[in-house]
Amino acid sequence: MNTEQTLPICIAGQWRPGRGERYASRYPATGEAVAWLNAADLQDVEEAIQGAHQAFLHSGWAQRKPHERAGVLYRIAELIRLHSEELAQLQRQDNGKPINETRALVASAAGTFQFFAAACETLEETITPSRGDFVSMSVYEPMGVVAAITPWNSPIASEAQKVAPALAAGNAVVIKPAEITPLLALRLARLCEEAGLPKGLISVLPGKGSLLGDALTRHPLVKRVSFTGGTRTGKHIAHIAADKMMPVSLELGGKSPTIVLDDADLDHAVAGVLYGIFSSSGEACIAGSRLFIARALYEPFMQRLVAAAANLRVGDPADEHTQMGPLISASHRESVERYVALGLAEGGRLRLGGQRPSGGLYDQGFFYPPTILEGLSNHQQVCQEEIFGPVLVAMPFDNEAQLLEQANDSVYALAAGIWTGDYKRAWALGRRLQAGTVWINTYKQFSISTPFGGWRDSGLGREKGRLGILQYMEQKSLYWGMNEQPLAWAGVPREVAQ
Ligand code: NAD
Repeated sequence: MNTEQTLPICIAGQWRPGRGERYASRYPATGEAVAWLNAADLQDVEEAIQGAHQAFLHSGWAQRKPHERAGVLYRIAELIRLHSEELAQLQRQDNGKPINETRALVASAAGTFQFFAAACETLEETITPSRGDFVSMSVYEPMGVVAAITPWNSPIASEAQKVAPALAAGNAVVIKPAEITPLLALRLARLCEEAGLPKGLISVLPGKGSLLGDALTRHPLVKRVSFTGGTRTGKHIAHIAADKMMPVSLELGGKSPTIVLDDADLDHAVAGVLYGIFSSSGEACIAGSRLFIARALYEPFMQRLVAAAANLRVGDPADEHTQMGPLISASHRESVERYVALGLAEGGRLRLGGQRPSGGLYDQGFFYPPTILEGLSNHQQVCQEEIFGPVLVAMPFDNEAQLLEQANDSVYALAAGIWTGDYKRAWALGRRLQAGTVWINTYKQFSISTPFGGWRDSGLGREKGRLGILQYMEQKSLYWGMNEQPLAWAGVPREVAQ
């Protein structure tokens, strides 16, 4: 990619520079520009929505048979696979994740298109039991223009989870990627067009969320917003949606508890806890950031955990052995540092990390090491607020009643993890933990066929799953009269009616 040239953006089938400010997508490992582009402005938002509306009405996409739409989605999946290495390298540069992680995200995006192609082909509409002289049916219709607003932490995977079901359902989609990671959404739109998606059905609007995302959400032609991002932004969108009577799905923040019971397999638990919090440098909504350890195990477990965390390889995202890349930006690293300082001010002690690494690449990028705090209580601010970085707070617990009370004491309820050798204890605890997903003797594992979402401040609605396509459709009931006689109420004899 020639970084000096202005990268065009995709507005209603036209590839051209946006009308907004020129800015660069930067590689978080070095701060260097990966690409320069002009953001969209409000006029571009209007054009994208009007173009999407026209494409929805006139391209024939919504009227295509499900297997025909599925055919295009299968081709998108194939093209993602064909370009997988290029996409993985681009995402590494766009958001600084280690290459092995971005390869997995690209593979997951291809899988998502394949899955929703199959969901589209096999979606059934039902004939419902009749209670009169009619045949009654329940069918689904596409909604029109759908907005997909995504965060910076898992580009392409986040977009695929919204774009694939929305297109499968017959809609047009306007994507608003995070301002600092626009490149994968733009590349995905190209691949969608190459796969045969009619022009105008997909637009991508890079730029400021407070301007573009807000305008998209408010627009009367936008019939649904599927949002992934922070809870504060999600609540803002929910308020706008309430005024418009518009359905939304909100995938928001988390502060997930991971629990190590006294009968856990320690090798598995250490590996799982590390992966749960430190993979993606902790920039994950489901990061297991609160660790509860049975008191009898606390010190031996912590010693193993700290030793293993100290060995994690933090560094160059292009190196296949790297486990943690840089954080997304200088300002985000400062925010993580403020939380660590706050934890110490609240009485916490550092067991590991807490200092920027230095030397070589570390001096150029926004690196931060695995950091473990202890000596804090669950009610304190660092245990209640989402840090979104590689910071784990470890706390001992004395009994399961106390544990449950603390694990559930959070405005968030996205995910939880349990490490135990006793499936009955796991069952009892797993059912009482308040969270959208509970992992037992594993963590951060995903299947596109399993619904995902949060409770409380972690969100509204579910993505993924075979029926995830239905959130992008309106349900309609059809009644087919089968009466031999005119409806009795009017008292019209048949011969008069004829
Ligand atoms: P963010 O809320 O700042 O931004 C998310 C998206 O919303 C971006 O595209 C942004 O431009 C846009 N936006 C910002 N203000 C807006 C407004 N007023 N109206 C409409 N759109 C607006 O979040 P972020 O910092 O990009 O991402 C990190 C957050 O995302 C974390 O809280 C994380 O937990 C959450 N997240 C949740 C999930 C999940 O599935 N639950 C997955 C990934 C990330």
